[in-house]
Amino acid sequence: MYAYVTLVTNADYGVGALALARSLKAVRSAWPLLVLATENAAGIDALEAEGCIIQAVVPPPLSSAFQARHERSHLHAAAPFAKGGKPAFHKPLDNFCKLHSWRLTAYRRVVFLDADTLVVKNIDKLFGYPEFSAAPNLYETLADMHRLNSGVFVATPNEATYQTMLERLDVHGAFWRRTDQTFLESFFPDWHGLPYTFNALQYLYFNLPALWRWSSIRVVHYQYEKPWQADHPKAQLLRPLISLWHAVYDGHPIPADLPDP
Ligand code: UDP
Ligand code: MN
Repeated sequence: MYAYVTLVTNADYGVGALALARSLKAVRSAWPLLVLATENAAGIDALEAEGCIIQAVVPPPLSSAFQARHERSHLHAAAPFAKGGKPAFHKPLDNFCKLHSWRLTAYRRVVFLDADTLVVKNIDKLFGYPEFSAAPNLYETLADMHRLNSGVFVATPNEATYQTMLERLDVHGAFWRRTDQTFLESFFPDWHGLPYTFNALQYLYFNLPALWRWSSIRVVHYQYEKPWQADHPKAQLLRPLISLWHAVYDGHPIPADLPDP
């Protein structure tokens, strides 16, 4: 038993998850999408109608000091995002709910996908990959290769792992500047590297166009600005990728070709 897993804590990411669910169908994934939904999640009926499994989650128990340090305005001041914009609906603290993936012990392995991703080629083989597999946070320079991106990862659910994570997460004064991503990198220092094509970050399209080859890309990840935002500063640069997202959201098949950058 395997499952894809995503996280939805508000209406905007509910919209993202619906496009993700449709993309998984479009590439004939053999395994369901399980949606971790917090109490403020919305768009759940549409996700159920799409065949998703909905699992209610509560955020991990975190001290009020930890929560204050990772609250949106505090985090943006302490560790500004200099390279792109985060939409107003993005709440950094909510990212830690991803760790609930390790509690899904009904599944031998899960592949977590951010709600702002689209699967554009079948990736079922990832269920045979080891924990912890993730792709690099590559979207600007080669130096990005040192870091992982937590928008796509392979995990083995295990309650003991989850409990160990809780012990290491909220330690005195801890500030995880990129939330779950920084934490997971620290928790799994020997993470297995997936090819970047399993998590092609949208900024590759204009920053490193030589790496954008549609035929080899398996997952498109709309980090920073989201394709369903009415308009955003990068929209002009990302027009073909935004059109792709809307086409998949509207139920169209994955196109065989996409304009090169
Ligand atoms: N997320 C959420 N609500 C939030 C923030 C994050 O549901 O307020 C979930 C959602 O699945 C999202 C993921 O956590 O895709 C990570 O956030 P995001 O993708 O916006 O971060 P980025 O990829 O831009 O770093
Ligand atoms: Mn994301």
